[in-house]
Amino acid sequence: MNTNFDFNGLIARLCKKISAEEGDAASITKDVDIIPFSGDRGGVAAPVNTNFDFNGRLARLNDKIFAEEVDAILITKDANVTYFSGFRGDSAALFVGKNFRKLITDGRYTEQAQRQSKNFQIVEHSDGLFKKIVDEIKSSGCHKIGVEATVMTVAQRDYLARELDGVEFKSLEFDTLRQVKDAAEIEMIRKACEIADNAFTKVLEVIRPNVREIEVAAELEYFMRKLGSERAAFDTIVASGVRGSLPHGIATEKKICAGELVTMDFGATFRGYCSDITRTVAVGKISHEQKKIYNAVHDAQLYGLEIITAGKSGKEIDSAVRDCLRDADYGEFFMHSLGHGVGLEIHEEPRLSSLSNCEHLLPNMVVTDEPGVYIRNFGGVRIEDTVLVTDDRAETLTRSPKTLIEL
Ligand code: ZN
Ligand code: ZN
Repeated sequence: MNTNFDFNGLIARLCKKISAEEGDAASITKDVDIIPFSGDRGGVAAPVNTNFDFNGRLARLNDKIFAEEVDAILITKDANVTYFSGFRGDSAALFVGKNFRKLITDGRYTEQAQRQSKNFQIVEHSDGLFKKIVDEIKSSGCHKIGVEATVMTVAQRDYLARELDGVEFKSLEFDTLRQVKDAAEIEMIRKACEIADNAFTKVLEVIRPNVREIEVAAELEYFMRKLGSERAAFDTIVASGVRGSLPHGIATEKKICAGELVTMDFGATFRGYCSDITRTVAVGKISHEQKKIYNAVHDAQLYGLEIITAGKSGKEIDSAVRDCLRDADYGEFFMHSLGHGVGLEIHEEPRLSSLSNCEHLLPNMVVTDEPGVYIRNFGGVRIEDTVLVTDDRAETLTRSPKTLIEL
């Protein structure tokens, strides 16, 4: 965690703002605002091109416009903009109606958008994306617009409502349209997985006592870049020894010691598509209890691979693997969900969790299987693969060894 920052001063200013605004409390959800107030750090992901099935995607988008009975839809989430248009920049929006498809962006991206988004009319704005969106909605004559409720900010929503009298907005989501991958997408994810696997093989030569976690993270990211990754799919996690109890322990200056387990969670990005893998290795001799935990997680993870198949629900797979760890008496130490979809975003639909909305997994969905055990003041183990759902047994796309590696 961060140390000498003036958290007290910041909290005092926040409290003052709450009083000045005559509020009772403040809710902060933007990452860069959460970090200065709490010291907590998270991560973000983004974007593509080539043989993707754009016609199929646009047809599904069209179906959605009809099914939801809207005149047009407005898409502002980067991953969805990329998915439907092929455009890989940011600061863009798609405005799609029954007879038109527009991609709105600024001058920095006009040329790129023209090259990447052949199915869209490129509209350039110079004085604000949302101002241009308002102009486009007005001139389209559309009255009912589908928007991404979980993406649009309150300020953007308020602005549209203020500027567009008589226009109704319907909350929709488009993320689930990306769940089932086409052949080209699967190839990209396969490649991203292969890069991560090869980086893992290489990093094993680096891990030894006295090496800092952050060096291990740097080597992993360096190897992935050298092997063709566009960027790390998320902030690389390296958690050694007692830090292993933090499921999302971003690498620190801590030195790895003999007798510790080291959990590494990392991923590559290829043509915008992510991979996600976690391996836990032992440095030097580890205790009987550490081995016992490793074996319990290993068994649960293999069981997950056995049962992930088309037709099952996200909830039932999560709960079956959870039972497996409960039987080994580690159930209470597995506090996150079993898995998530992987694609243009590192965490996307479908979820394998107790809250999953996915009733039936479908062939060509890509999900992770990542049980873990995390014990405070002791350490932890997580093992994770990215897998392709099929009608039969899932195909494991990340293939690094999982039997305990002792370095
Ligand atoms: Zn992961
Ligand atoms: Zn994951």
